[in-house]
Amino acid sequence: MTTVPASLRRFVIQRASDRCEYCGISQLGQVATFHIDHVIPTVADGETAERNLALACVSCSLRKGARQRVEAPETGEVVTIFNPRQQT
Ligand SMILES: [Zn+2]
Repeated sequence: MTTVPASLRRFVIQRASDRCEYCGISQLGQVATFHIDHVIPTVADGETAERNLALACVSCSLRKGARQRVEAPETGEVVTIFNPRQQT
């Protein structure tokens, strides 16, 4: 696991307005602390830098894991996972 410096962690949380950048749920009132996700995983040489980090709720973080692509259940097509740094 890659350690994210506290100052960078605070920046990511503030930029996301305390919301998961994948599903939009607010961290306020949640029991579990949201994760700092590497949009491009470190195993794929993703950097620990502002441009590659996103705030993710536990559910989204665990579902995404170190993947960048998934198979769409409806079509079986392999699609790229939403990238909150490049997509809206
Ligand atoms: Zn989420």
